[in-house]
Amino acid sequence: MSECIFCRIAQHQAKADLIYEDDDIVAFRDLHPQAPTHILLIPKGHISTIEDASPDMLGKLLSKATELAKKEGISDKGYRTVINCREHAGQSVHHLHVHLLGGRWFHWPPG
Ligand code: AMP
Repeated sequence: MSECIFCRIAQHQAKADLIYEDDDIVAFRDLHPQAPTHILLIPKGHISTIEDASPDMLGKLLSKATELAKKEGISDKGYRTVINCREHAGQSVHHLHVHLLGGRWFHWPPG
C-alpha cells in the first residue's frame, strides 16, 4: 500500500469527502479547512510538485477548480487557488494539490 496519503485517497484506500473524480484527477474537501469552502484537487498518479506536472495536468486541475468554484457558489464573490511548492511555501503533503479556497476575504500579500 502506498505511503502517500493522497495516493491512498485517489485509490479509495483512505477515507475522504470526495466531490469529483474522473480518470485523471480527484477533488475532495480539506480535512482542516482554512475557509468555508476548502477543496483540494489532485492528480490520481503520484506527482510530487508543480514542477513535475505536465501542462496538460496543470490545465486539468485548474480548469476543474474554476468549475467547482461555480458549483460551490464561491465564484461570484471570488476565491483563491494555491499550489504550495516545497518548504518555504509550506508544502506538507508531497503529492501535487491545488487548494481551492472561498467563502471569505483573503489577505494580500499572503502570510
Ligand atoms: P499543503 O500544506 O499545501 O501541503 O496542504 C496539504 C493540505 O492537505 C492541508 O491543507 C491539510 O489539511 C490537507 N490534508 C492532509 N491530509 C488530509 C486528508 N487525509 N484528507 C484531506 N485533507 C488532508
